[in-house]
Amino acid sequence: MSVHVLEEANRCLQCKNPRCVEGCPIHTRIPDMIRMLKEGDTLNAAEMLYENNPLSMICSLVCNHEKQCEGHCVRGIKEAPIHISAIENYISDSCFERLEEKKLPSNNMKVAVIGAGPAGITIAILLAQKGYKITVFETRDKIGGIMRYGIPEFRLPKSNLDRYYEKMKRMGILFRPNFGVGGSVSIQDLLDDGYKSVFIGTGAWRPKRLNIPGETFGNVQYAINYLNNPDVYDLGDKVAVIGAGNAAMDAARTAIRHGSRFVTVISRDDHLSASKEESGYATIDGVNFMYNKAPIRITDEGPVFCDTYRDEDGKLQLKEDTAALFEADSVIIAISQIPQDKLVNRDKDLKLNDHGNLATNEKGETTMPGVFASGDVVTGAKTVVHAVGYSKEIAEDMDKYMKSLS
Ligand code: SF4
Repeated sequence: MSVHVLEEANRCLQCKNPRCVEGCPIHTRIPDMIRMLKEGDTLNAAEMLYENNPLSMICSLVCNHEKQCEGHCVRGIKEAPIHISAIENYISDSCFERLEEKKLPSNNMKVAVIGAGPAGITIAILLAQKGYKITVFETRDKIGGIMRYGIPEFRLPKSNLDRYYEKMKRMGILFRPNFGVGGSVSIQDLLDDGYKSVFIGTGAWRPKRLNIPGETFGNVQYAINYLNNPDVYDLGDKVAVIGAGNAAMDAARTAIRHGSRFVTVISRDDHLSASKEESGYATIDGVNFMYNKAPIRITDEGPVFCDTYRDEDGKLQLKEDTAALFEADSVIIAISQIPQDKLVNRDKDLKLNDHGNLATNEKGETTMPGVFASGDVVTGAKTVVHAVGYSKEIAEDMDKYMKSLS
């Protein structure tokens, strides 16, 4: 066992009121996990983690731990917090293939899951455990959604997602890859075919626009498209990344790894919204940062920026007279995404809310009876752990709904 993981486990105080658990969006039983590891009960610790969070192995790699469990750890007040993510990853990764699937006998009810991202994978696993027959429809050839096509390999090795695919197949889950519902097949077609319920977890893939002139130029890419397959882009030496979140860091670090030498992340504010860990890695990778700059147009030579400031009401204002060209071979826009509207266009009973996300009630049911949704398609782009937490609740609601039909 890694000395580091054991050392970290030994530093845990086993707090009676563990702040780390409070800080975890999915309330992982962290002290229990650490105690079980130290007692050599690693497999049971992994089962406990998986039961609470089927994507524990992924979340231990990609969560914003400094704002969640580790940021709340009492040890962190005076020294470094316990490296909880390393401990969780060790347990979940080393035991993943040995986890016993607690699966109820088949109830012969079929569920269609549209989208194989964090929400879709969570729902598919949880409902399969309850005895439902699951078919997952996925527009791409592999599962993972944003985890595979939006998070770079150096943060989340794709082999982790392949392991989930194998596990889900072993559970009897069926897949229809390269097939998007909302084209030749509608949600109504699925219901007509006898699926008792449909889950939509199609994520948020439509890049948010800056809405400034020049956004359609050939030297401009959206981060979500670039991260999908960076190998096919030739960004040149000098790259301007507009945005301040983790996706901006991912795009910048990926550009550096693909040979761009001068990569600058440009934030409208005086700070970044990315985690300290991700911005720290970007810094040591050689990414530069510029603050208080807002783009006003993009030219063939690069973006033009103005200085910014916040007025008394906290609103962002431009200092127009400071407009200046930032020379760049390429511009990457990384200011988040919203859901696509393909399904809504095909099934007219599905409605969007005022934010452009899929409208659902408090039980996760959309405006189409029997059709549920969670994850980014409902909340807008959020984190993997938030999609899991939300999807756990929706899986219970779908279960109740389907049982009420029989
Ligand atoms: Fe251990 Fe820190 Fe959690 Fe306390 S808050 S139980 S020290 S991980």
